[in-house]
Amino acid sequence: MAENENLNCTLTFAIVGGSIGGLSTAYFLAQAGHKTIVLEKQNKQYFLTQKFTGLRIPPNLTLLLHEIPGMADLLTGRGTPSTGFTLHQGETFELIGQLIYSEKIISDLGNVGYRIPYTDIWRHLYDLCTSHSVEFLFDFEVNAVVCGKTLTDQTKVLSSLKQEVVCDMVVAADGHNSFAREIIMNQPNDIDTERDEIDIENDNIGSSQFSELDSWDRLSIAPQLMQEDPALSSLLESSWEGTDQYGLNIYYSDKNHISYDAGWDPEKLDSISVKEISSIEREPRSQNPVNLSSYTDVTNHLVLIGDAVHAALVNGLYNTALAVEDAFVLGFLFSKLKSVAQIPNLLTGYNDIRKARTRMIREVQLGIFHTLSLPPGPQQDARNQAFGQTLHQDDVNDEILAQLWNHHISTCSYNAKDAVEEWWHNWGTFYRE
Ligand SMILES: Cc1cc2nc3c(=O)[nH]c(=O)nc-3n(C[C@H](O)[C@H](O)[C@H](O)COP(=O)(O)OP(=O)(O)OC[C@H]3O[C@@H](n4cnc5c(N)ncnc54)[C@H](O)[C@@H]3O)c2cc1C
Repeated sequence: MAENENLNCTLTFAIVGGSIGGLSTAYFLAQAGHKTIVLEKQNKQYFLTQKFTGLRIPPNLTLLLHEIPGMADLLTGRGTPSTGFTLHQGETFELIGQLIYSEKIISDLGNVGYRIPYTDIWRHLYDLCTSHSVEFLFDFEVNAVVCGKTLTDQTKVLSSLKQEVVCDMVVAADGHNSFAREIIMNQPNDIDTERDEIDIENDNIGSSQFSELDSWDRLSIAPQLMQEDPALSSLLESSWEGTDQYGLNIYYSDKNHISYDAGWDPEKLDSISVKEISSIEREPRSQNPVNLSSYTDVTNHLVLIGDAVHAALVNGLYNTALAVEDAFVLGFLFSKLKSVAQIPNLLTGYNDIRKARTRMIREVQLGIFHTLSLPPGPQQDARNQAFGQTLHQDDVNDEILAQLWNHHISTCSYNAKDAVEEWWHNWGTFYRE
């Protein structure tokens, strides 16, 4: 099974959660030569029958997915290339701005972004995993992890039906409401109250205002369904250039924050065009991000990845990208494993690389959400005026355009492969001995 001939220490990884984060981790770790088993509480059919889903693949994820066999063809064959964003005023649907992926912007971003049905990407990863001897246990809801005390001890994963899987390490990719995150949070000194030093321009909108921004939703809708709804069909007229899916993000303030009431009634989501949409079951997810001081447990047997570790903003643009980046970095580091004594050092690398990146994304996303959900008033007017410049491409002010794109370009030009290779180049020699 081992494809990595340089690996002389093979571990067994149990991966909790078989969504995008879990499957990418299983693939990268298997490719590195480790034995991997995925434990997923849902059944396989659940993943193959998802509707109205559209994973957003920002350009930095496109770059990383090109490391996975067949993904480039999948993206071009089944994905809808992102043409950019249009911004509409909540009350009226009036077009107030458009950030279009022009050739110049695509060149600055480094790659094209896509939207692709969740099921397509899941199925591709699943097939790759099975062809790399990854084992799957569906209908396996993990409800306990008993970590080994020393590095050489084994770890047990238990299900609600009392099944047991024994492994060397557990990677928890169990999503936003992660069960495994609790284990790490219950360790002493784990909530990180310090803000890392990160250089975000114009960062006047930090986490302190986060509580006001806790309601937004997004749907991916087939354009023909949108045509049935008078309000939504107007969106197609103004800017639709895609083929399969239209991504609709709706931002509104918490009902309790009257001053931020932008006039959008969240209940209206249920009346959007089609009966089917309202019948979709959504797992409740609270906007309650935590900053963990470590993404791994004290025994070095448990690692969190994807939404489990970031408790990222629900519907954030970069959630899937972060999950796959986490998986890639973990897989790269464990492809270097020579002995179990090296594990804590590799996990230090994982923590260092991923914590810095997560913080950066979180701040940028908060800034975007804040801007998009400004209440009526002078700030909203100023925002609309700035965005309004983008409606007249011919005389758009370069400086304003740069400001509007700045954060997106900085987050999308990140290359996880470069980041982990650089870390390994700088620190790997110390850890090899
Ligand atoms: C079915 C599905 C459809 C999605 N569709 C979209 C979409 O259209 N657009 C979008 O932006 N995001 C979507 N997401 C979310 C998106 O996948 C994530 O935000 C992002 O990709 C990070 O993925 P993740 O693997 O870290 O977390 P998630 O995708 O949330 O996956 C967590 C997985 O862990 C499993 N799990 C949770 N607890 C346990 C447990 N105790 N034992 C075993 N398994 C457990 C869950 O069933 C789930 O499969 C979807 C997620 C799922 C599961």
